[in-house]
Amino acid sequence: APLELVSFLKKSIKPFRHVYQRNIRLQVEKRQVFYPISEQRLKQLLVIFLDNAIKYSEKEVLVWLNEDQDFVEMGVKDKGIGIPEEDLPFVLDRFYRVDKVRNRSTGGKGLGLSIANSIASRYGGEMEVKSSPGQGTEVIVRFPKENLAGAKPMA
Ligand code: ATP
Repeated sequence: APLELVSFLKKSIKPFRHVYQRNIRLQVEKRQVFYPISEQRLKQLLVIFLDNAIKYSEKEVLVWLNEDQDFVEMGVKDKGIGIPEEDLPFVLDRFYRVDKVRNRSTGGKGLGLSIANSIASRYGGEMEVKSSPGQGTEVIVRFPKENLAGAKPMA
């Protein structure tokens, strides 16, 4: 059965607000959005995005969900340190981390986004990372509404 994403997001974001004492805003245009994805997999994506947003920013984080004729999109946007332009093409790669020294204190192996990317592609989805240093970062996953034959096996 398809997953209802609005209630999924409400439910999933709640504990993050408490644990990190961070304002996490949810922006949705529809009351219900259905998509055939495993709740566990989508949760994994959301946690990876939120984890990064919280780790690399100090202010409010925005989670948004949008549906149009062809796609269902979810995004996590922060107002944090951002990603330098020269690193941006590589952040979805395995083990890639920006500025190893700076990041030592924040931990991480550079695996999160590459895992997210492989989950997304399993559902025919794509990821996009937009960022400006000093301004913030937005990570978006976009799932096609066509090609709903179901999940492909993990590559
Ligand atoms: P982990 O394996 O624990 O997720 P990670 O955060 O280092 O560790 P990724 O999630 O793959 O790994 O992110 C890769 C790199 O992209 C990070 O090391 C960080 O430099 C950069 N990055 C990711 N998300 C953000 C963000 N929201 N703001 C700034 N930089 C980010």
